[in-house]
Amino acid sequence: MSAITHHIPDAMLAAYAAGNLPHAFAVAVASHVSLCAECRVALEAHQAVGGAVLEDTGAVAVSSSLKDNILAQLDAPFTPEPVYERNGIFPGPVMEAMNGRAPRWKKLGMGVRQDILSADANGSVRLLYIPPRQAVPDHSHNGLELTLVLQGSFSDETGRFGVGDLEIADENLEHTPVADPGEACICLAATDARLRFRALVPRLLQPLFRI
Ligand SMILES: [Zn+2]
Repeated sequence: MSAITHHIPDAMLAAYAAGNLPHAFAVAVASHVSLCAECRVALEAHQAVGGAVLEDTGAVAVSSSLKDNILAQLDAPFTPEPVYERNGIFPGPVMEAMNGRAPRWKKLGMGVRQDILSADANGSVRLLYIPPRQAVPDHSHNGLELTLVLQGSFSDETGRFGVGDLEIADENLEHTPVADPGEACICLAATDARLRFRALVPRLLQPLFRI
């Protein structure tokens, strides 16, 4: 694996540690952390700070079982957690989101395929398969989109993204990700709102494909 150069912003790691991220983003963050030693260290620092605050409030003696209960509750929002097992290209949190099944690719046209792992009003998590040199349809966003590369690489107006790199695109970014030559690019994409396609045909297709 080449070195990861696009990481999780600190504020997002802090939100993840506090359990304040939408599920779709938490899956993407947990997956990146499971691939990235640097962000793992940063996350552990955030978690240690949260733990230290709790320890300081322990001036009144609390039973260890009560403390364990409090800690367990604090831990609860951390799901999905970074899991360091892998199955081929899929990090543990992606495997969990796939519920142990193999990818079920649906064609989007131009060789692009997707597999929606979860989708509801709060966001979606899906896998994208992009053939070499193929562009993902030009799109802008209603909200945030997190894209984590699992295989191959893609490039867009903002740079190049290889395995483990996380791109964060907001509504101000209109970008055209294109898979690099060589291997097909497989990504995990997490959104908190529907994408807004500019081209007419993709816009017509959007309700069908729930992009
Ligand atoms: Zn990182």
